[in-house]
Amino acid sequence: MMDACHMLKLARNMLQAYSPITSSTGQINWTFIVHLNDVQVKDGLHAANKITDKHVRFDSQKMKVSLAAQTLSHSVAVALCTLRDLGYSQFKHCEATAEFIELRFQRYICTYRFSQDNLELLFNSIRASGGWNNNPTAGQFQGIFRRLMVRCGVSPSTSGNVAPQDETVSLSAVEMSSLAGDESEELPSPFTNVSALVCDHSYLPTRFGSLVDNALVYISGFVVRQILRKLPCGVCRASLVADAVPGSFDQNYHLLTLKNNGGLMIPSEGTVKVVRSAERFIRQSSSGKAVRLPLISQFVRAEIGSEDVFFLKEHIQETQFGIDNHHFSLLSLVVSVFHKLRMHHIAKLNTLRLQSGNSRKKLCKAVLFKGF
Ligand SMILES: [Zn+2]
Repeated sequence: MMDACHMLKLARNMLQAYSPITSSTGQINWTFIVHLNDVQVKDGLHAANKITDKHVRFDSQKMKVSLAAQTLSHSVAVALCTLRDLGYSQFKHCEATAEFIELRFQRYICTYRFSQDNLELLFNSIRASGGWNNNPTAGQFQGIFRRLMVRCGVSPSTSGNVAPQDETVSLSAVEMSSLAGDESEELPSPFTNVSALVCDHSYLPTRFGSLVDNALVYISGFVVRQILRKLPCGVCRASLVADAVPGSFDQNYHLLTLKNNGGLMIPSEGTVKVVRSAERFIRQSSSGKAVRLPLISQFVRAEIGSEDVFFLKEHIQETQFGIDNHHFSLLSLVVSVFHKLRMHHIAKLNTLRLQSGNSRKKLCKAVLFKGF
């Protein structure tokens, strides 16, 4: 059996090297991936895929399976079609490319559990446990393996050649360690799926581009899902979601609709409005740096004020005792969850930026054995 991960890398490399390739449905072309990255960098938000400069210029990281897997993924196929449907001229005739990507995805995704990834991830953990020495002796290996089994389970680093593509647990001890953590505080890292990006350049959009708008609607869906987990008030819960995609926002719900495989919430217009307001403030005031929550809350409160964006109607009066009514509580809640997700992503981007050019340490072994 051929190893899926390495076939993925080969397929990606072939696509880049031999484009355009003619298929029965049209031309398959790597330049669509390049265009996708360009558009996303320019707009500062990702259309729910993981394409970055690293994926486009992968020469220095050819070995990384995750880069190839994220390039030939369902999300990328969806993003290409979204941009084409939104009328971006660069994406005209991207059908054959999207179809090619989708086919790779379908063919390889099922075989993931049989691949050597899980083994590589285990080795990754073992190497990491050895401190400076990533070539453990048999004795050290035994010790490390026992330690992993008993105490911490296998949770591989994310910087290796292979990153986990699914939730396969290599050693069951990992479940114990995650149970010990505070589950309610744990965000299911939505930005690994959503990937909203803040660019280096900050600008003041009075109107977002349609790509950004689409990404914000998509992110709003995640925000709603987070909030629904802990919000007890039924009226407020209902006001965060919509039964169907609202007509007036059609174009902005495009990505959400395409990505929605049944699991995603449709955020109400009010939720999206609040998220957009928060995003506008973040873009005004940060240049890729963290923005403090109170500042964003203040801005959103000032901009939206007591306008009944959630259509709470008499529920506002009902709850208007004490310091806050449910309208303002909802505003704060949406802003704070969005802020948390957004800042987490900004921090991650900053880390990535610091690490860039420091990917696979080519001289690792040479350094280890120097002087032996
Ligand atoms: Zn309420």
